[in-house]
Amino acid sequence: MKVVQAYRFALDPVPAQERMLRSHAGAARFAWNWGLARCVERHAAQGRWYSGAELHRLWNAQKKADPALSWWAENSKCAYQEAFRDLDRALRDFVKSRNGQRQGRRLGFPRFKKRGRCRDSFRFSTGAIGCARAAVTLPRLGVIGTHESTRKLARRLEAGTARIMSATVSRTAQRWFVSFTVEVMRDIPERHLRPGSAIGIDLGVRTLLAGADDQGRVIEVRGPKPLRAALRKLKRASRAHSRTIPGSANRRKSAVRLARLHARVANVRADALHKATTDLARQYETVVIEDLNVAGMTRNRRLARAVCDQGFGQARRMLGYKTTWNGGRLLVADRFYPSSKTCSGCGTVKAKLSLSERVYRCGACGLALDRDLNAARNLLQLAASGAESINACRAAVGPGPAGHAVSKQEPGTRQRDKTRTAPRQHGTAT
Ligand SMILES: [Zn+2]
Repeated sequence: MKVVQAYRFALDPVPAQERMLRSHAGAARFAWNWGLARCVERHAAQGRWYSGAELHRLWNAQKKADPALSWWAENSKCAYQEAFRDLDRALRDFVKSRNGQRQGRRLGFPRFKKRGRCRDSFRFSTGAIGCARAAVTLPRLGVIGTHESTRKLARRLEAGTARIMSATVSRTAQRWFVSFTVEVMRDIPERHLRPGSAIGIDLGVRTLLAGADDQGRVIEVRGPKPLRAALRKLKRASRAHSRTIPGSANRRKSAVRLARLHARVANVRADALHKATTDLARQYETVVIEDLNVAGMTRNRRLARAVCDQGFGQARRMLGYKTTWNGGRLLVADRFYPSSKTCSGCGTVKAKLSLSERVYRCGACGLALDRDLNAARNLLQLAASGAESINACRAAVGPGPAGHAVSKQEPGTRQRDKTRTAPRQHGTAT
């Protein structure tokens, strides 16, 4: 089966390459802003925007006619073209979000990008893209060293079981990364190694995840809680940052430090989730989780920290594709199923259960059980009963940043998750 996967590597560019990386990112930013200005103009006059292809044509005519734009040739034409595509998609997503056709957080109108205030990134979708040993090849930029080996992807490319669809270069906390969107042929077993095994998972606030399986076993994965642990460090760093003078060298330095701390936290969290979800997908054919409204929860600032810390959305996405790769499936209980408020012993539903109540105490049957575990047991029971409130989640992995989608659904189910992020497969932990 063909699946789309992302392979991400940290780059070690030499100074000349670093300059070219910056130049390409600048080109992409310029193209985005240029295209957005054209779209705003046209919308004011004719009530509609340009498509990505129209912008590209317009740009091709303009760049030759206007001597002030003669620098365009210093960068790959891909950088401009892909920026127009991104803008096209951003405008469409904005309309969909406004019309309620797009799940998740409401999207605003695309904004102009400002140097130093936006994410530096650009993409190649054609040309010489590849990797070997500890280096990648990119159009115009040539061979750039990587921070770690690219062996796993290189082997697949050699064997012909993978095809690179695009390469996105971006900068996070002063470090450049390349993320390949790759179409991979995977051998997916007909049946899971442990047919019939099932587990209910509660993605908790306190624990990374709590599970109850069909054998009555209890699984608890304590998250590294990297954010909370590093919070003091982060707090101190951000306080120090706010004391620095805007525009000063010290402020720049402290901003870099702050960004590094954030990036590190995200890496530790992703690694912990990868380990936990890989284990679960290997051990259980059916994994049941709750459909949490992550976008809605993140608005609550207190809880946001815990939610982001533990990465609900990330866990769910990982479980989605990893269960598929193992011949299993991920079931997502309806958002309104009261998994936490229901007694897993007798089925009584409580009217209220505050988040601070860590132990579920049933007034009807006297059951006292850890809150997360109680929820996990309910989810497991839901899977066994085959209740209609369960929907099969999108099985295969989501599309990469280039927007190519490969997805498989259970027949008759609606595609629920529209998250547009490719999973991080092989990355770095810096
Ligand atoms: Zn009870």
